[in-house]
Amino acid sequence: MKIKDVRTHILRAALSQPFGYSRAWYDTRTAMVVEIETDDGLIGWGECYGPAPITAAVVASLATLLIGADPLRTDYLWRKIYSSMRDHGQKGVIIEGLSGIDIALWDIKGKHFGVPVHRLLGGAVRSKVQAYATGLYRRRSGDPLRYLPEEAAGYVAEGFKAVKLKVGFGVEEDAAATRAVREAIGSGVALMVDANHAYDAPAAIRLGRMIEPYDIGWFEEPVPPEDVAGYCEVKSALTIPVAGGECEFTRFGFRDLLVRRALDIVQPDTCAAGGLSECKKIADMAEAFGVRYNPHVWGTGIAIAASLQLLAVLPPHTPPSLAPLEPMLEFDRTEHPIRQALLTRPIEHAGGVVAVPDGSGLGIEIDRTALTRFAAR
Ligand code: CA
Repeated sequence: MKIKDVRTHILRAALSQPFGYSRAWYDTRTAMVVEIETDDGLIGWGECYGPAPITAAVVASLATLLIGADPLRTDYLWRKIYSSMRDHGQKGVIIEGLSGIDIALWDIKGKHFGVPVHRLLGGAVRSKVQAYATGLYRRRSGDPLRYLPEEAAGYVAEGFKAVKLKVGFGVEEDAAATRAVREAIGSGVALMVDANHAYDAPAAIRLGRMIEPYDIGWFEEPVPPEDVAGYCEVKSALTIPVAGGECEFTRFGFRDLLVRRALDIVQPDTCAAGGLSECKKIADMAEAFGVRYNPHVWGTGIAIAASLQLLAVLPPHTPPSLAPLEPMLEFDRTEHPIRQALLTRPIEHAGGVVAVPDGSGLGIEIDRTALTRFAAR
């Protein structure tokens, strides 16, 4: 079996309402889908996190390294691409492009052997994954101290046992919003906060101290990704676990964060940090360092399926235990017209729990009409 063709699909959809986080407003959602075809007719699907026009150019450029190669040699091809770009792209869009390619190759591998990817990654530890609701963004109008607690209570009513609040809008306002959301969801639901690196270390520590009484599951991206010393300062100043890593890449990048003990929870994005091949290695390394692993997930059903295939095989934290800490799926609840439309059978939650797809490959089927419908012009 040989790789015959590598195609990219840039997808775009306008949102009915813009939503904001600490650094920007969104009024559209985009996606970059990788499609790899073999000479015996198998199709593998992958997705790249990051700026779609740039990751599409990266994947198109790397295609020459793939055409004619055996798609089952996933580690070999990963290294071939990585080393060809080593001097120019150890992090960022090159690795995001490589991630989408790697995911598509794993989809092909699973389809070739007629098994779900998790069987080939070592075998499933679980068939269902607890999801947490990512939402609680800002709206153009209304009082966040009213609509955020209402929205959070809605997730709890749907069955979610954990929700994540966006912070980074000023320390006082963040503390008030955190308190309001905690009061709305009660004490039995986990609450995490995510600043999207809006703060420096002193401001993040000040916010952390103000919200420590509200039983915070983790404080995500308190400071910019380059500020590793800042992460270490925040981590040593607070009792709240510190999370991050959606802007970090490959085993080499995570090695440095782990050696410095900058994080309590690493959050590689499967569609950015190097794909399934690399994220499995990062997860194994995190386990060796005693650090929790919860993937960052922000994309279409392809990204969700790839993340679930990896989540299926991750060990619980510090087993054996009668009360193990299980890895969770980040389940984006914001508007994303492409996310579920791309799959013939969308991945949904039931009571805050998502089943791992058990079909061959990623376990999903792509609705090609959606590729046309959302194609960016
Ligand atoms: Ca985040």
